[in-house]
Amino acid sequence: MTFPESLMHLVRTDEPLGPLVWLGIGGPARYFAEPIDEADLRGLVGSAHEQGLPVRILGGGSNLLVREAGVDGLVISLSGLVSQPTLEGTEMTVGSGVKLSHAVIKSVGAGLGGLEHLVGIPGTVGGAVVGNASGGGRDIGSAVASVTVLETDGSVRTLTQQEAGFSHRKTSLTGLLVLKVTFQLETRDVAALTKRMQKLWISRNSSRPSEEPRIAMPFVDPDGMPAKELLQTVGLAGLREGDVSLDTNQPQYLLAHSGATSDQCLRLIKRVREQVLLQTGIDLQLNLQIW
Ligand SMILES: Cc1cc2nc3c(=O)[nH]c(=O)nc-3n(C[C@H](O)[C@H](O)[C@H](O)COP(=O)(O)OP(=O)(O)OC[C@H]3O[C@@H](n4cnc5c(N)ncnc54)[C@H](O)[C@@H]3O)c2cc1C
Repeated sequence: MTFPESLMHLVRTDEPLGPLVWLGIGGPARYFAEPIDEADLRGLVGSAHEQGLPVRILGGGSNLLVREAGVDGLVISLSGLVSQPTLEGTEMTVGSGVKLSHAVIKSVGAGLGGLEHLVGIPGTVGGAVVGNASGGGRDIGSAVASVTVLETDGSVRTLTQQEAGFSHRKTSLTGLLVLKVTFQLETRDVAALTKRMQKLWISRNSSRPSEEPRIAMPFVDPDGMPAKELLQTVGLAGLREGDVSLDTNQPQYLLAHSGATSDQCLRLIKRVREQVLLQTGIDLQLNLQIW
């Protein structure tokens, strides 16, 4: 595999991915790059595409489980591609590598409502939009006006909200590289918005396990019931597999304790899904992306 000379300085080999994801575990990327401008990003994607090398995009790593074998392809981190969100009337356009919390705070500070309910969700704007992240009873897709994506052939396309296909924790964007997102927001009172955002932040933070920083939220809430309640009802809170467990009080969270491995995470997830299916008939879907 060869990248053009002008891009070689951006590419590292056998880069450990564990330190870059919230769970803190998993193998290396065969090739890894962190471009700082869109031209380099396009060059990397185009070059990988020409040579048949699979490309994966890393946002904040808060929804990823990397297998021990790692990724046999090119992982592109968007953390170097950060720019200030821009405002035009009630529209805000944000680069996909920007932290979601930054976009939320920016919109609230400008007196624009529509994103404040997402406060405290970790990760980037791109990761949130691709997975249609939700919080406070509303998903991010409901505030999206358009999404600009980079195709594997290097062309750039802007999709409408409808074309992006937002549904419960899903979109039609899988496999596309999100470059930027334009949100359609609503004018609101800054003080009232700030108060609402702070309240939501406190409640979300207080319900997060504090004992273990290496954490994930692996399951999608099934229709009509939060995963937390379902897992408590089925008696799976605290379930352990090696050094990985579901939290005892907040079982929607998976914790990777010292010594945890990706295989243990996968085994725990499998056991949980089997038990839930057996006891309730519900096929619990995964939110966590497995690499
Ligand atoms: C403590 C904790 C609390 C959480 N709470 C919530 C919650 O309340 N609600 C909720 O919905 N989720 C929640 N999550 C899950 C997670 O934070 C979200 O899914 C988040 O939006 C993922 O963003 P990320 O940037 O970290 O994505 P990553 O984990 O980096 O990537 C996830 C997927 O998105 C893809 N991706 C990322 N950026 C791009 C891009 N620019 N273009 C194309 N593909 C891209 C990746 O390739 C990967 O497939 C929580 C997770 C944790 C650890």
